[in-house]
Amino acid sequence: MQIEEIITEIKRLKQEKGAVILAHNYQPDEIQDIADFVGDSLELSRKSAAIEAGIIVFCGVHFMAETAKILSPDKKVLVPDITAGCPLAEELTAEDVREIKKRLKGRRVVAYVNTTAEVKAESDVCCTSANAIKVVSSLPDKEIIFVPDRNLADFVEERSQKKIISWDGYCPIHENISLKDIKKMKKLYPEAEVWAHPECRSEVREAADRILSTGQMIKEAPNSAVKEIIIATEIGILHRLRKENPEKKFYPANEKAICKNMKKVTLEKVYECLKKEQPEIVLEEKIIQKAKEAINQMVKYI
Ligand code: SF4
Repeated sequence: MQIEEIITEIKRLKQEKGAVILAHNYQPDEIQDIADFVGDSLELSRKSAAIEAGIIVFCGVHFMAETAKILSPDKKVLVPDITAGCPLAEELTAEDVREIKKRLKGRRVVAYVNTTAEVKAESDVCCTSANAIKVVSSLPDKEIIFVPDRNLADFVEERSQKKIISWDGYCPIHENISLKDIKKMKKLYPEAEVWAHPECRSEVREAADRILSTGQMIKEAPNSAVKEIIIATEIGILHRLRKENPEKKFYPANEKAICKNMKKVTLEKVYECLKKEQPEIVLEEKIIQKAKEAINQMVKYI
């Protein structure tokens, strides 16, 4: 089938089955363009809980679709490519969390949303890159265990009054954006501001004018007075930033900041997934309940 035919078929199947397509800000451009909603992982999960559709096609990585399933257990959550994982989320297991809790008894575990459902189920409260500081600051404890991203953990420690004991994980995409990249881009575009994601290394965050989650970048771009912005995060977000702000210029801090897992989703896979209603996210009821508690706690603390 030609691309145009695939798109027509996706639209037809979507209507026939009463399905909704959600796409993360890092998805390939053509996936963002056919999606009903584009956003960060939490915005999409909230969306999935609020919409009436019985079928959700979640175009993103595995943990994001799991979060959608946790928040909408009665809906069928499909993923176009079940192998699209997240190395950051997958490097920490539920057993690791149980072991840390045992070793550091009495401390609460804050889990970044970039974790598996099993890890969320073992954690006390979840957070996103947008609300991590608020969540941690609102906890009564002086010391917090933060998993799995060490860069986000450092950022939270810098901006909260808490001592953070962090897991030593990182996102390989954000970790690869260097200070050298920022300096090079600033030399090319001296008038541009630098906006960095909190998963970036400390030296990149220090060189940035603003540290924002992807959702915050999307919200802030139209309000900002600056005309040129260097974006230090996965380059998929540039599509939406450019589309929604045609009068502004956005440059990737590092054009190789590409998450291969996010790019595993193709139009063909979306079509197949809608047609066969497979692969589907299936989670144990007890994991859903426990993970949901940690996610709900997040809402309580912000
Ligand atoms: Fe995981 Fe990083 Fe890819 Fe996001 S960009 S899905 S954190 S590997």
